[in-house]
Amino acid sequence: PAQPEWTTVDTYLADLLTPEDDALAHAHRTSEAAGLPPIAVTPTQGKFLHLLALLTPARRILEIGTLGGYSTIWLARALPAGGHLVTLEYAPAHATVARANLTHAGLDKVTELRTGPALESLAALHAEGADPFDLVFIDADKVNNARYLEWTLKLTRPGSLIVLDNVVRGGRVADPAAADEPDIRGTHEALELVASHPRLDGTAVQTVGAKGYDGFALIRVRD
Ligand code: SAM
Repeated sequence: PAQPEWTTVDTYLADLLTPEDDALAHAHRTSEAAGLPPIAVTPTQGKFLHLLALLTPARRILEIGTLGGYSTIWLARALPAGGHLVTLEYAPAHATVARANLTHAGLDKVTELRTGPALESLAALHAEGADPFDLVFIDADKVNNARYLEWTLKLTRPGSLIVLDNVVRGGRVADPAAADEPDIRGTHEALELVASHPRLDGTAVQTVGAKGYDGFALIRVRD
């Protein structure tokens, strides 16, 4: 099995289990029309994040890497009444598209989009004494993944869930020839932190689908 089959199966699963409603389809269309890169999570992955947020259960969610707000919509829809989601995005053009998509989805009141380098936004959240987040989805520039995990530890509580995306990258994570690439180095640093940090307890799972061969790490902040 290879990409054509992975895409066919993903389409079958998505059509059956995770059909997009107007707000999600709109977010896809506007992101494409604005020339954003096609690197949002797939519908099946978005629903997976949504279910994780419900299961946690997450009342406060932090997302690092907004793009057009597609995964933000899936996550924010899992918030209970009174819940809140903060999403961090560097590129102003992406943030503009995401803001409009969140408004179109009726989620502008429960979401807060902060623009700028995520490392600065994370430091600001910490300095403001933000309440701990129950779930953190890390999906921005992979080179900073270990730094994002370190900040996440300061912004969560025991039992919080962290999802770190794109940790397999077509198998490059275990290819010695790719070890010097910045995104692979960042992923190695993050996974090594998960393995060694006394407050992190995690695993990683390989995935295939419409977006190719990749994987995610699922991490729990220890009690
Ligand atoms: N989570 C989105 C989704 O699934 O719909 C996809 C996010 S995309 C993979 C990564 C995003 O991170 C891009 O929009 C990019 O501009 C943003 N990004 C890159 N470097 C960043 C940084 N230093 N701080 C904040 N965002 C950054």
